[in-house]
Amino acid sequence: MGTPPTQQIPLADFLPTLPHIRMVEEKVDPHLGISRELLRTPNEAVWFRGFRNPSVVGNLWPTRESVAQCYGATPAELTEILLSAIEHPVAPALGVTRVSWREQETKSGLGSWPVPHFFPRDAGPYLTAAVYSATWKGKRNLSYHRLWVRGDSGGPMRLVPRHLDRMVREARNARVELPVALILGAPIDVLLAAACSTDYAVDEMEIASALHQRRTGSPLSVFELPNGIRVPAQAEIILEGRITLRDEEEGPFLDILGTYDARRVQPVVQIDTVHTVKSPVLHAILPGSNEHFLLMGLPREPLILRAVRSVVPGVKCVRLTEGGCGWLNGVVSIEKRREGDGKNAIMAAFSGHFSMKHVTVVDADIDVFNDREVEWAVATRLQADKGLIVVPGATGSSLDPSATKEGVTTKWGIDATLPVNAPREPFEKGHL
Ligand code: MN
Repeated sequence: MGTPPTQQIPLADFLPTLPHIRMVEEKVDPHLGISRELLRTPNEAVWFRGFRNPSVVGNLWPTRESVAQCYGATPAELTEILLSAIEHPVAPALGVTRVSWREQETKSGLGSWPVPHFFPRDAGPYLTAAVYSATWKGKRNLSYHRLWVRGDSGGPMRLVPRHLDRMVREARNARVELPVALILGAPIDVLLAAACSTDYAVDEMEIASALHQRRTGSPLSVFELPNGIRVPAQAEIILEGRITLRDEEEGPFLDILGTYDARRVQPVVQIDTVHTVKSPVLHAILPGSNEHFLLMGLPREPLILRAVRSVVPGVKCVRLTEGGCGWLNGVVSIEKRREGDGKNAIMAAFSGHFSMKHVTVVDADIDVFNDREVEWAVATRLQADKGLIVVPGATGSSLDPSATKEGVTTKWGIDATLPVNAPREPFEKGHL
């Protein structure tokens, strides 16, 4: 394995080195214009250089390969790399003096930024790639939350009921605002770690640090702000602020499934200070794009892999498909050793990813990264009266429009593996 290409901050130096990047030199309209360009070339990074301070980049990590290459790995190997980082976190390097985002400092001013208004029915312009770093009573957390930029100093965020939500509830019970830092343009390790689903006690920054160590040979350098919040030393933009005691209506907003998420009453974020590199690039994740599927879905795959491995040691690859928006539909390949492994793999896979609704289990000779080959396996190896499991009344994703309002949905699993003792020959593809 050669030296992995290293993602650098600032992005203004890194972006020109990308093999697939399209420059848009004219100023497009942040209202729908940025999304229109990103949709034109979904597998290509687009750098909007008509804007300055910040300019905008989207589709930055548009393919599995683009992420895997950072780690000198194939897409299949990436799942194992993520799992290893989740299972063996690494303490970040503190006390750094070189901090990239300290070149410019202003008091908010977000209202003048080219923050994209992505889709027509969205409530307004949104920051979609901000990783929130927070600390509360000795616990630390990284997580993504969209932020509706309603003026110079922030607006309502979407706080899904997970770890940061717990911190906010506890802080609010104590009648205090929760300080947060919004990280934009962080190293890829941070982007992946922030989407990991771990225990409350786990600091996702340590998962990021393990990934960083894997990629570069050294732990992630982290800077501790005076209020105790940690942010990567290398980032494009750091927004210092607080989750206030105020709520406002948030949404609608087109989310990962390409459908509009509902309007809800959500906490308001107040941004007090903006730090940036000299020529900052604002990372914008187009909702429902490949980049959205990957950054949200990739960190779930290792959890599915681990869950299946605990009952089917011969599990080979796991993928959340783009067709299922990197969230609802999975494929698992296994080296089947016992009759029944396929069914056990289905049940375990569901336990590894709460929101997964459909899972297809195939033999190890099937490439899970190839939709057509997976469908071929279903077409030629499945007998639905034996291979199909239907689970009504299960809890799934709150985003699924076909689920009940409480998120109750019907799940199915397909076991498209061959019987262990079946002669292989009738099922094998002929070759030239
Ligand atoms: Mn957490």
